[in-house]
Amino acid sequence: MQSVSSIAEEISRDIAGPAADGVDRDARFPIEAVTAIREAGLLGALVPKDLGGLGASLTDISHAVRVLAHSCASTAMVLAMHSIEVASLVRHGETEWMRDFVSRIARDRLLLANAGSEVGVGGGGWSICAVETNGEQFRLEKEAATVSFGRYADCLVVAARRTPESVPGDQVAVLCFPPALELREIGPWDTFGLRGTCSNAFHISASGSTDQILPDTAAVQACTYVPVANILRGSAWLGIAESAFLRAQKVVSRQARKQIGETPDSALALADLVVTLQAMRDSVQSSIHDFGPLVDVRPPTRRESVRMDTVKLSQSQALIEIVIGAATICGISGYRLDSPDSMSRIIRDALSAPIMVNNGRIRRSNAELLLGVRNY
Ligand SMILES: Cc1cc2nc3c(=O)[nH]c(=O)nc-3n(C[C@H](O)[C@H](O)[C@H](O)COP(=O)(O)OP(=O)(O)OC[C@H]3O[C@@H](n4cnc5c(N)ncnc54)[C@H](O)[C@@H]3O)c2cc1C
Repeated sequence: MQSVSSIAEEISRDIAGPAADGVDRDARFPIEAVTAIREAGLLGALVPKDLGGLGASLTDISHAVRVLAHSCASTAMVLAMHSIEVASLVRHGETEWMRDFVSRIARDRLLLANAGSEVGVGGGGWSICAVETNGEQFRLEKEAATVSFGRYADCLVVAARRTPESVPGDQVAVLCFPPALELREIGPWDTFGLRGTCSNAFHISASGSTDQILPDTAAVQACTYVPVANILRGSAWLGIAESAFLRAQKVVSRQARKQIGETPDSALALADLVVTLQAMRDSVQSSIHDFGPLVDVRPPTRRESVRMDTVKLSQSQALIEIVIGAATICGISGYRLDSPDSMSRIIRDALSAPIMVNNGRIRRSNAELLLGVRNY
């Protein structure tokens, strides 16, 4: 059987790559690449084999996301964001209904999107909206600020307060499905980067069975969502950084061929960039090593939380350093829009990294955590 990595490599090369400029130009969902991902069973990659999935490891899916980002960052982010939801359900969906749903993800090749952020709350804050229950049924209304591929998903994981009386931190995640899920677009997605994620704002109206509610979002976030998100988004960012580096390397090779026997100045700049690139690679690998095994469900220590948040900060900062450095190496041919060396899409996509959960917010959280850690 073909490995998850080699399937992703093929999709990246043959489908996502050729479509990527059009996806970016038209801010359209990368439907052909996501269809190929779906048909290859990759949406169920993290579902254990005994529940009908591929039983892939985080290393496998991290590699898949990374190679997709070599050609189309939007496609890579779709697989990353979907897989973060799947990992959370695999680890925390303990009821019979949830186990059955996890197997349906693999069997029916379902695509999962997230509606965590809320209009007026900002990223990373607790949702204000609340679930209303009546016996075994729930209702939910939310003004979701940014829902990547919400229009295209088979299931939306919506964050909300447990009840209208609940305190802000008492949150649940509700799995919502059409036709009992209605989305009304309330905001466009006309951004300068990651245009293919189609992350519009939506008014969400949903109802269904209370079986669809995953309790205790705080535990899910701390134990699984945040570490896996940092690993998989970090893998997408690594892939973007590698594609920038590769373009710069090609330019340096061309310059070296013109001045045989001499090391061009640009080669020195490339040697500087490789230090940062290698640090990004090491960081993804060590995060998978430290946080990847999906077995030990326990809240992280303060030290572990700081470590994990630091991964997000360092990866997103390193990515910006690499794309700007690579663009400088590529010079005017990288600055042009009509050149094979163009860095335009890569830079624009990369600039989403510090704002996908704002680095300022993470810095503050780290500062607060560090106050309670002696000898970090
Ligand atoms: C490509 C992309 C896809 C996304 N997809 C989804 C999705 O599918 N689902 C979803 O729920 N969300 C999604 N998001 C939203 C994301 O998770 C964040 O919620 C969002 O980017 C944060 O938006 P914000 O800048 O308005 O909010 P905030 O993070 O609140 O930031 C607002 C402002 O406050 C500043 N700020 C905040 N805290 C601090 C601090 N402590 N110190 C200094 N400054 C601070 C920031 O600099 C910023 O200017 C996506 C975002 C992007 C870019």
